[in-house]
Amino acid sequence: MSALRDELLYPELEDFDECPYCGIGEPTTLDHYLPKEEFPEFSVLSTNLIPVCGVCNSNYKGRIWIKNGNRLFLHTYYDQFPDEYLLEASVTVTNKVVINFSTIFVAAEPYFCNIFNHHFDKLCLNKRYKRKASAEIIRKRRSLERVYRRNNSANDISNFLREEANGLEIDYSKIIGKLFYIELCQTQ
Ligand SMILES: [Zn+2]
Repeated sequence: MSALRDELLYPELEDFDECPYCGIGEPTTLDHYLPKEEFPEFSVLSTNLIPVCGVCNSNYKGRIWIKNGNRLFLHTYYDQFPDEYLLEASVTVTNKVVINFSTIFVAAEPYFCNIFNHHFDKLCLNKRYKRKASAEIIRKRRSLERVYRRNNSANDISNFLREEANGLEIDYSKIIGKLFYIELCQTQ
């Protein structure tokens, strides 16, 4: 079991450093996708063990994985992500920056989107992405101030943010930052 555990948690693959459930945590635990209490026969089946972060696993996932016949979480080995955008960000700037993330329902992918919607909800991803986005903007604050001071231009800020967005790959772990920058650079 410990060899299987090591193999799943520390695979020799690149780009496998983020939790596949949230895209932001470090995968340090193995989630039993089908809970071991209910399915002891699958408790050491590698395809039932998903390397995820402790926050997803301990704080949010729990033992309830299905409701009214509908799965509540994506199985990251089996569920195929569609090519379409599945998340959007909205940003409101008053005396502070308020950001919210929500899921997009892709009409052509109702089965996937239903599960993704539950997954997003159950793992409290809006709250967690908001926190991540706030930390990101705080980290960039100095650079933003410097860019603004050059010409006192909001356009310069927009361009700076657009460049930040363009610099991020579109993959699950970077998409949050990308959405955030795209939305922020369009916000007046
Ligand atoms: Zn996670």
